[in-house]
Amino acid sequence: MSKKTIALIAHDAKKKEMVDWAAKNAGILKNYELCGTGTTARRVAEATGLNVKGFLSGPLGGDQQIGAHVAEGGIDAIVFLCDPLTAQPHDPDVRALLRIAVVYDVPIATNISTADCILGRFASQD
Ligand code: PGA
Repeated sequence: MSKKTIALIAHDAKKKEMVDWAAKNAGILKNYELCGTGTTARRVAEATGLNVKGFLSGPLGGDQQIGAHVAEGGIDAIVFLCDPLTAQPHDPDVRALLRIAVVYDVPIATNISTADCILGRFASQD
């Protein structure tokens, strides 16, 4: 069976949280294909040494690229650490990604606790 793919997205205020989570779980994440919005992918790759395919930066269309892959069946889970306290210029894209994840029943974690649940679920399936 091919490896599951996990997409990583973190708004600026949440990037450190994402990097810390990825570093803590690097031993697990190395078993998956990883991708993410531009800056998040680069930061995680630099901090952990994991291979993370980078799409465009979120505000420049990265969320939409990931949404397209969800629609095509190429993404198995999304960790999306969004900032609930700051208005985002690409809020329509954010909402579109949440929507398309619901449409295709792709798990989408918007906080660390849920991200941990997804990894736990994947581990029990592998
Ligand atoms: P970034 O995009 O990883 O390129 O910063 C994330 C976002 O703000 O949606």
